Amino acid sequence: MTEFHYSVDGDGVATITWDVPGKSMNVMSFEGLKELGAHIDSALGDDAVKGVIITSGKADFAGGMDLNVLADLASAGGDNPAQAIFDGIMDTHHLFRRIERAGMDPKTLKGGKPIVAALPGTAMGIGLELPLACHYIIAADNPKARIGLPEIMVGLFPGGGGTIRLAFKLGAMAAAPFLLEGKAQEPKKMKAAGVIDEVVAPGELLARAKEWVLNAKDGDLVKPWDAKGFKVPGGAPYHPSGYMTFVGASAMVNANTWGVYPAAKALLSAVYEGLQVPFDTALKIEARYFTNVLLDPRSGAMVRSLFVNKQALEKGANRPDVPDEKVKKVGVLGAGMMGAGIAYVSANAGIEVVLIDASQEAAEKGKSYSTGILDKGIKRGKVSEAKKEEVLGRILPTTDYARLEGCDLIIEAVFEDTGVKAEVTQKAEAVIPESAIFASNTSTLPITELAKASKRQEQFIGIHFFSPVDKMLLVEIIKGAQTGERAVAKALDYVRQIRKTPIVVNDARFFYANRCIIPYINEGMRLVREGVTPALVDNAARLLGFPVGPLQLVDETSLDLGAKIAKATKAGMGDAYPDDEVDEVVFWMVEQGRLGRKANAGFFDYDEKGKRQGYWQGLAEQFPRRNEQPDVEEVKNRLILPQVLEAVRALEEGVLEDIREGDVGAILGWGFAPWSGGPFGWVDIKGAAAVVALCDDFEARFGARYKAPKLLRDMAAKGESFYGKPGQRAA
Ligand code: NAD
Repeated sequence: MTEFHYSVDGDGVATITWDVPGKSMNVMSFEGLKELGAHIDSALGDDAVKGVIITSGKADFAGGMDLNVLADLASAGGDNPAQAIFDGIMDTHHLFRRIERAGMDPKTLKGGKPIVAALPGTAMGIGLELPLACHYIIAADNPKARIGLPEIMVGLFPGGGGTIRLAFKLGAMAAAPFLLEGKAQEPKKMKAAGVIDEVVAPGELLARAKEWVLNAKDGDLVKPWDAKGFKVPGGAPYHPSGYMTFVGASAMVNANTWGVYPAAKALLSAVYEGLQVPFDTALKIEARYFTNVLLDPRSGAMVRSLFVNKQALEKGANRPDVPDEKVKKVGVLGAGMMGAGIAYVSANAGIEVVLIDASQEAAEKGKSYSTGILDKGIKRGKVSEAKKEEVLGRILPTTDYARLEGCDLIIEAVFEDTGVKAEVTQKAEAVIPESAIFASNTSTLPITELAKASKRQEQFIGIHFFSPVDKMLLVEIIKGAQTGERAVAKALDYVRQIRKTPIVVNDARFFYANRCIIPYINEGMRLVREGVTPALVDNAARLLGFPVGPLQLVDETSLDLGAKIAKATKAGMGDAYPDDEVDEVVFWMVEQGRLGRKANAGFFDYDEKGKRQGYWQGLAEQFPRRNEQPDVEEVKNRLILPQVLEAVRALEEGVLEDIREGDVGAILGWGFAPWSGGPFGWVDIKGAAAVVALCDDFEARFGARYKAPKLLRDMAAKGESFYGKPGQRAA
């Protein structure tokens, strides 16, 4: 496969054009790197060539390294994967260094050939690392383009020289937002930040690149770090100002990662050590840390769930094979908190929306939620007035069901009440086309039961959003007993249109996500009841990498909601109900009026502005603190294991059909320790046998909820893991 094309014009300027066939965006592979290297050698070795332009044959420059390839790298190394990975990375360094030195005399730094990167659009990851090795970077003025190094977001860091080059170029402080936060910006902003050199009108990109090549002087080709007397901008680590940078950065990294993300720490170490040695040694240091990160099972798990599998699900890995079901006009029933959010994300994706509520005032209020979000976007310079008008113009607020005519999808988000839902289902079905799909956003009512109100049960499905709808990336699609393939395809096509990530599950109490969150929250309250300090409970969760601890989470979602769900669940389960101990805490808190944030009083105290003030001391009067507190590792395991076991049971019972959905859904749905890749990834990292041993211990000490599911016990006995051999992607 030819990924790079090479040509030389009459003026002796060679152009290397990156254009991976069959893809809308260039991604780098090891084959591609080899081709690029061969073209660079041709250009440097050909006396007729004066200089080189590296550009793209597509609208964008490149999306980055092909992470699928990277994920497989570790497994390809045979007996010594570390050496194989390190050697592979060093090959890339040598190639980029060849570009950077461009044939110049190493002593006089003269006689090199100018190499310029010309970026027509987005340039991410290795798509920026390669330009950083060139002598000059010109980008087309394209406000939609993003330039940056986003590796940290999927559990890696820039390992193609980008970390060291950017730190040497800008200094550690100025490089930090790009390296540690993966900040990506439009060309003009990256020029202002000093990452790229020039921005030109799109039509002038190649002409300007050629002009630069033909006019470049020897001095223009020498990178500061290759010149005599180089000093790191902002100071090297032992310089007084450099020292302060690293004290701050180290604190920031630990505050943000709680020590569970290997990449951020490795990145910081590579920069800290790299800035104290010559450039080539620094690249070697970067390669060693990068090798370490690639071999860390946590990085592999993150790449797998946050990139490879997330993308596969978004592209329709589990979509039934039926024709396109893209949504043109959606009817949203109920303009409350959820309906308003659903209307916004739909209209924002270009879909016409009919937003219905019981009163015109309520419907208008639901639409005004979109106005609020768009106005905020305008304030931040992210949305134009024209865009706002366009999006709002797509939302029709009304009480008139007749306006649902022509809707190909209905999403119902009225009160959580079977009777009310049945009534609106029938009212809508009287108007909408025979072919329309009807979806409910219920969070607790079985889809199979709700479908009974419908004339067309095979066209009835659950599309379960998370709150707040505009921020949460996951959508859970629920198949009722009668739901047909077209309904599933429609739901998936809709989720793709609104650019969220779907998982498809079968109908069961609380579906998948809520089913797993509830044991997490409940275990937090059991711990409190046992006299464990609230701070230990929530901090143990943070140390696991959860965004919020269980007690803080209950405060956010409210204790009366917890009480309501508990009552309904108990009514449904009868004697089998296992959570009376949890209810002692929940109902007592509700009695005290400690309903959570909305009451400015919950497990936390709040000031009048709603800011958390610390844990409420009154709790200890009802549930006295134990003198001896459990070990933090034990608290961590007590919080994570119930969620993992619930996910495994969901798989065992067939509620979940695909572990990829279980893992991606857990991270995006409730923030399950992203470093682990999700609950199934967590089991693989710990090993099934170790997890079963932990279950046995906890079952004996804390109760039957820790009983190891048969599936896990079987896996432990056979020495199996969920994802099989490293690199193997199980479906
Ligand atoms: P909400 O009370 O904010 O909104 C419900 C809206 O439905 C209200 O505006 C109400 O006026 C309207 N409504 C009631 N009866 C109606 C009728 N007959 N015709 C037209 N409109 C009617 O509730 P919500 O939080 O938006 O929840 C809506 C649904 O979404 C529920 O099924 C809930 O379980 C589900 N859900 C909620 C969340 C959440 O976090 N709140 C998350 C996922 C799913």
